[in-house]
Amino acid sequence: MVSSAHSFANPGYRQCSRCLMDTSAAGIVFDVEGHCNFCSDYKTNMSAVVFESVESKTARLNEFVARVKANGKGKPYDCVIGVSGGVDSSWTLVKAVELGLRPLAVHMDNGWNAELAQNNISNIVKTLGLDLHTHVINWSEYKKLMQAFFDADVIDVELLYDNAMLAVNYGMAKKYGLKYILSGSNSATEGMSMPSNWNWFKFDKKNILAIAKKFGVTGIKTFPAFSAIDYVSCEYIRRIKWVPFLDYLHYNKDEALAILERDYGYKRYPYKHYESIFTRFYQGYLLPEKFGVDKRLMHFSSLIMAGQISREEALEKASGLAYESEEKLRDDKQYFLKKMGWSDQALSEYLQREEKPHALYGTEKPLWNLMLNLRTKLPTRLIKSLKKGK
Ligand SMILES: [Zn+2]
Repeated sequence: MVSSAHSFANPGYRQCSRCLMDTSAAGIVFDVEGHCNFCSDYKTNMSAVVFESVESKTARLNEFVARVKANGKGKPYDCVIGVSGGVDSSWTLVKAVELGLRPLAVHMDNGWNAELAQNNISNIVKTLGLDLHTHVINWSEYKKLMQAFFDADVIDVELLYDNAMLAVNYGMAKKYGLKYILSGSNSATEGMSMPSNWNWFKFDKKNILAIAKKFGVTGIKTFPAFSAIDYVSCEYIRRIKWVPFLDYLHYNKDEALAILERDYGYKRYPYKHYESIFTRFYQGYLLPEKFGVDKRLMHFSSLIMAGQISREEALEKASGLAYESEEKLRDDKQYFLKKMGWSDQALSEYLQREEKPHALYGTEKPLWNLMLNLRTKLPTRLIKSLKKGK
């Protein structure tokens, strides 16, 4: 919705001629052919992984699986796999088990799960005979933190989920002495870098606490926040590796979906990340309406660059409402208002207020940048995977 709205409203509007990225992305530039830096960077950085030969991938995969199995010897599990009920993490579980791994499935429930997602998770876990650890976040704390993020007018309300999810996954790996967390993030479908104005630094515990304090939130006792130092401690001291597992496979989303539906009773969603009611309302309504950001552009651009969808088909799918129907949007809006205790008036006031930067409230990003400068080798797979995807 926003891309077409922008194109009429903004005379400086421009869209890439190869992918769907447009001038809503900070720092976008175009070459003489009209190709943008986002898809050009994808081509440079991701082609080696996306178009790697079958032999080379298989060799790397076998070597990796052997390492994970060796680490799991004598332990109840070999690795942790975070599951959301989405296709990427579901496929990661299925393939890991097929390769003989014994994963602990870990799910974080922030109170916004779509029923469909719960069913998808429980069907797959049951069919595969796996243990599932579900971390249920204290809703009253989570609601207060969300409210503070709305009051702060910052873009990345999902920082709360993503940050806590890191804490929960690393926490389970620590508990069982596991060195590997397999994630469903991957270069084929998520390889494009996130524009810097579309989300925020995901290890920013300080930002979460600062926003909470600024807006009078008290009594946060159980929220599993995760800081840059926590990350360094997990990754470099305990040597727990966050691995974009699907990069070891020739991952095709449509093929994966077909098998998940056939063998695991999986039900698909209309768009990426629609397994959480908040995530779909945030991506499909709040982000475009308040912040002028339509993440479908990036999701489809990755698929175009991976050769999994034509630009024409992607353009068609990314046009119009980011919802199956007006009715579904209305349903989600009502659900959101009721759950947050907002009036229609509160929502329209929120949408009308100007965006404010996360950095306004206190952040550990400067500390992170300092650490990056001190050790240029610090940014690893996780940082890459966090810049993509969501
Ligand atoms: Zn492009």
